[in-house]
Amino acid sequence: MKVLLKNGNIVFSDKVQKNDLVFENGRITFLGKDYTGQSDKVFDIGGKMVLPGLIDMHTHLRDPGLEYKEDIITGSRSAVAGGFTSIACMPNTKPVLDNAALISYVKYKSKESGLCKVLPIGSVTKGQKGEELAELRLMSEQGAVAFSDDGYPVSSAHMLRLALEYTKDFDGLIISHCEDRSLTDGGYVNEGKNASLAGLKGIFRASEDVGTARDIIIAKALDARIHIAHVSTKGAVELTRYFKGQGVKVTAETCPQYFLATDKEILEYNTFAKINPPLREESDNIAILEGIRDGTIDALVTDHAPHHIDEKRVDFSDAAFGSIGLESAVGLNTRLIEKGMVDWVGLSKLMSYNPARILKLKEVGEIKTGYIADITVIDPDIQYTFDAKKTFSKSHNSLFDGWKLKGKAVMTIIDGQVVYNNAKITPFGKE
Ligand SMILES: [Zn+2]
Repeated sequence: MKVLLKNGNIVFSDKVQKNDLVFENGRITFLGKDYTGQSDKVFDIGGKMVLPGLIDMHTHLRDPGLEYKEDIITGSRSAVAGGFTSIACMPNTKPVLDNAALISYVKYKSKESGLCKVLPIGSVTKGQKGEELAELRLMSEQGAVAFSDDGYPVSSAHMLRLALEYTKDFDGLIISHCEDRSLTDGGYVNEGKNASLAGLKGIFRASEDVGTARDIIIAKALDARIHIAHVSTKGAVELTRYFKGQGVKVTAETCPQYFLATDKEILEYNTFAKINPPLREESDNIAILEGIRDGTIDALVTDHAPHHIDEKRVDFSDAAFGSIGLESAVGLNTRLIEKGMVDWVGLSKLMSYNPARILKLKEVGEIKTGYIADITVIDPDIQYTFDAKKTFSKSHNSLFDGWKLKGKAVMTIIDGQVVYNNAKITPFGKE
């Protein structure tokens, strides 16, 4: 089937241009002015933004084992409604994704769902216990796009060294959750004035900075690739910038909560504001915005972390860490355009091109003739109050519930199939 998207503002890798776009058999076949050829279906995009399909490098799908929070299908529904065509899922499931069979399970279930592409991330160590390396190469051969003990750092500097030596051999990627657990010392919010006012136990901010330095220094010594997860401190931005300047193969990501929110959110004991790393301070927000502007930060991710309400509706100290994020990401990240930090080309680099390059995904991340037709249409003008209860996720623990947002994904196309259009989800083959 030949499908024509008319009058879209196409976000190319170097410019935005009003063009028609045609795709057929899962590939983009035409880009240009006033398409006059035949087509089986036409969508008038009416000047909305047409981006390469968004890719979230950091999602928690809780499947297998914790499906009461989320599963691959509900998480994928939430992803396509948020404009994502691919999401990479973290291995802290039950059991942990630490072997090839479980990587296959995720890929199989994702394919069955007929929704977005789910790219499994395997664990670095068996059971994420930090004692023994997992079967990294076997998992990679089965389709794991990266490795991480996310939720926790790789236990020891020595274990990280072993993992980086091993992944370097096949150009694999370690995604590092940077934290020195001895400095975290049982804390669960950012240490500072607001933690004191609320009487909540803080995490010394150096915990993240020391973890970041450790991991990048080891990657530098081995000339291996490393990706820093969810950067939240000014110190981590500065360290990443410094080592990038030295030619170290380090890339980094952040999430909207680290440049749009601060630890003031904890003053009302809203457990949806309990996340890890914790919400920081305004000086950190500013440093992260600058890191986004100057390219120190390569990718925007959600760290979508669904939890059952019973795990959140408890005392702050007992509540689980995390906020969902797939369906609020576009409305939050477009604020970077309003703030003048990036333009549409820059935003699409952060949400698609760079994640594709970092994860070595082929023929996606750009709108180009011959490339796979993974496409996200964003209406930049829609204004709405974000209602977490109306999301497709199984859990509704969003820090951003009730926020006024502008900009939303209105159409998501995967492999040339319109799976999401006008708030309606149509899995592959169910048309
Ligand atoms: Zn993490």
